[in-house]
Amino acid sequence: MENSNQKLLIIGAGLCGSLMALRMAQRGYQVQLVEKRPDLRDVTQDAGRSINLSLSDRGLKALRLAGVEEQALELCIPMYGRMIHDQKGNTFMSNYSGRDGEYINSISRPGLNMLLLDKAEEMPNVELIFNKGCTAIDLEKGTATFTDYNTKQESTFEGDLVLATDGAGSVVRKAMFNKRELLFSFSQQWLTHGYKEITIPATKDGGYRTEKGALHIWPRGEDMLIALPNLDGSFTVTLFAPYANTKYCFDNLTTPEMVQEYFTQEYPDAIALMPNLVTEFFDNPTGPLGTIRCSPWHCYQKVVLLGDAAHAIVPFYGQGMNASFEDVFVV
Ligand SMILES: Cc1cc2nc3c(=O)[nH]c(=O)nc-3n(C[C@H](O)[C@H](O)[C@H](O)COP(=O)(O)OP(=O)(O)OC[C@H]3O[C@@H](n4cnc5c(N)ncnc54)[C@H](O)[C@@H]3O)c2cc1C
Repeated sequence: MENSNQKLLIIGAGLCGSLMALRMAQRGYQVQLVEKRPDLRDVTQDAGRSINLSLSDRGLKALRLAGVEEQALELCIPMYGRMIHDQKGNTFMSNYSGRDGEYINSISRPGLNMLLLDKAEEMPNVELIFNKGCTAIDLEKGTATFTDYNTKQESTFEGDLVLATDGAGSVVRKAMFNKRELLFSFSQQWLTHGYKEITIPATKDGGYRTEKGALHIWPRGEDMLIALPNLDGSFTVTLFAPYANTKYCFDNLTTPEMVQEYFTQEYPDAIALMPNLVTEFFDNPTGPLGTIRCSPWHCYQKVVLLGDAAHAIVPFYGQGMNASFEDVFVV
């Protein structure tokens, strides 16, 4: 065991923070992992937040290092290529590779996050703390203040090293931004497009309504639908569309009739697979898409930004989580 006396405070128990906690505990650190939300293993997941993700070799490498690759692969569905759907409903498959055994995986975000939390929790030197949101950090001392969302009480935690895995809206990154002497550079670029998730449910007998082993894409210029398979026979569909300035932008898709008209015209084969389209369209949130760049990623040899906190990226590359896992591999 290395570093057995050193205490690590990890802020944010999403994908990156949970894997980081596991890995650092394996390396012998005393780890406290603090998350602002409730334990996702105890609560129902919010709809509309990228329910599944593509996991590539880049991400698997880090899971392998932490000894959880096999269990993660049990949650995966291989996607061998992109299945393109044209406006008439014709399809063609464009394989990712000509070589056997090369594919990307569709994996459930909560499923993977739960696995990583379970594995981290099994370690005797990991303490998981939920419902506490970081509100402030002393970057030089490595102390962070948290507010408990139930009791509203404040508490302070300290680490010999603080790892900030608190996502794209990182409170820790904001503190670094405000520290003039760090000469912290930061850019945040929002797309003029947003996203919304809809479901293709499983058939009555739990089967898939369309090809399971593919990442489905309905490219339409300014707009696009994609669909990734889930283990339960369903697909999570994501609509990417402009917020404004086109006929079928989010600002205009305000009535069931408009939504029905848009999907019938642009995605006739997909609409046939989505019986709950209209309900889900209005129930599920529309999310923004952005890219965050900043530097430096560390300060005072005390605090390090990792994952989306350091480098959030639009989802079209399928790399955000994979890059976050690579951070764990590199650290
Ligand atoms: C629509 C969409 C599709 C995507 N598809 C893919 C894909 O196919 N493949 C891929 O690799 N990536 C994909 N991504 C990107 C991926 O979701 C992120 O890169 C990944 O979640 C980053 O993990 P993270 O742990 O750094 O951040 P997050 O997953 O955002 O986790 C941050 C955690 O910190 C917690 N937190 C936040 N603030 C605080 C605070 N103040 N105090 C305590 N805790 C806090 C949050 O509650 C959360 O649990 C997609 C993203 C979107 C939006």
